Amino acid sequence: MPDLYPFRVGTNMAGPVLLEHGTIAQRDRWVRNMASGAEIWCQMFSEPDAGSDLANVSTTAVRDGDGWRLNGQKVWTSRGEYADWGICLTRTNPDVPKHNGLTMFALDMRSPGVLVRPLVQMNGDSHFSEVFLDDAFVPDEQRIGETHGGWTITLAVLAHERAGADRSAPTVGGTTVPLWLSRMIGTPALADPVLRDRTMRLYAFDETIRLTQLRTLANQRAGRKPGPEGSGMKLNGARSFKARAALQATAGGAHALLSDWDGHVDLLTAPSMSIRGGTDEIQLNILAERILGLPSEQRTDRSVPWAVARRGIA
Ligand SMILES: Cc1cc2nc3c(=O)[nH]c(=O)nc-3n(C[C@H](O)[C@H](O)[C@H](O)COP(=O)(O)OP(=O)(O)OC[C@H]3O[C@@H](n4cnc5c(N)ncnc54)[C@H](O)[C@@H]3O)c2cc1C
Repeated sequence: MPDLYPFRVGTNMAGPVLLEHGTIAQRDRWVRNMASGAEIWCQMFSEPDAGSDLANVSTTAVRDGDGWRLNGQKVWTSRGEYADWGICLTRTNPDVPKHNGLTMFALDMRSPGVLVRPLVQMNGDSHFSEVFLDDAFVPDEQRIGETHGGWTITLAVLAHERAGADRSAPTVGGTTVPLWLSRMIGTPALADPVLRDRTMRLYAFDETIRLTQLRTLANQRAGRKPGPEGSGMKLNGARSFKARAALQATAGGAHALLSDWDGHVDLLTAPSMSIRGGTDEIQLNILAERILGLPSEQRTDRSVPWAVARRGIA
């Protein structure tokens, strides 16, 4: 199975959203190249002051002739170093409440004024970057959705990201046995009753994720858009990845402390699963408020112009 990671923002997030919200010209221009892998996309949402509170982005886009000038800083931009295009969330009106003044663009990552600086992670990779935008020009035809309608596009991208089909562990051949379990079968670890119990619990959990994924895919094939239920998928996917990494480390014994151990990268990657794509706490908030209908948490900046609310916290 080839590694499809580089292509996922295009195929799983920006592509489906262009099909839902893009113009015909935009779909013609980008979607085919996303599907063929000819062009790689990255997601430019997070900023130093806008992660969980994503609607707080402060990268500006200001009208300039037949396009826009972008200024600001993005961070944690996975694939940023080698991406051709970025789906980039900007602020186009600071004088309205934060969700109402945002606009989404497709940014050519090789435009003048785009500087990408890779960041090194604790697992040794540097797959994400910080990106500085200094008067980068974007033609208006690269605006995705309505001017000031960027929050709608953001929610659509995030829903696709969280419902994404890559959450459960890969299986072996045509079976439902996950790769991690196939690696443990026949090892001394499974002779230990406590580890065997943990393994089987995790297998059962993983299987529920796989089946939920199949349901999500069936819904998408039937033309239904993913909604807040993707947060459950995101949460369980992170829990499964972390439990798997911890189980394998326990089974690996002292050797698992060494960097030449097979599961080393997974072990050091595991904590990030609860952060990327929105943290566990944010997924729990979404599930509580939008699925269970529980009272929402206090939000004092919803009806205040962004520029005013921002001065309040500065
Ligand atoms: C490996 C990796 C890859 C990433 N790739 C990308 C990418 O390609 N593109 C991109 O745009 N971003 C990317 N991100 C960024 C990621 O989306 C953010 O890190 C994430 O949304 C959290 O934002 P933050 O880091 O600013 O933390 P903060 O928002 O500052 O959160 C700090 C802590 O406070 C908690 N918290 C915050 N608000 C609440 C609340 N209302 N209720 C309860 N708890 C709360 C959080 O759960 C967290 O524990 C990536 C991150 C990682 C780790």
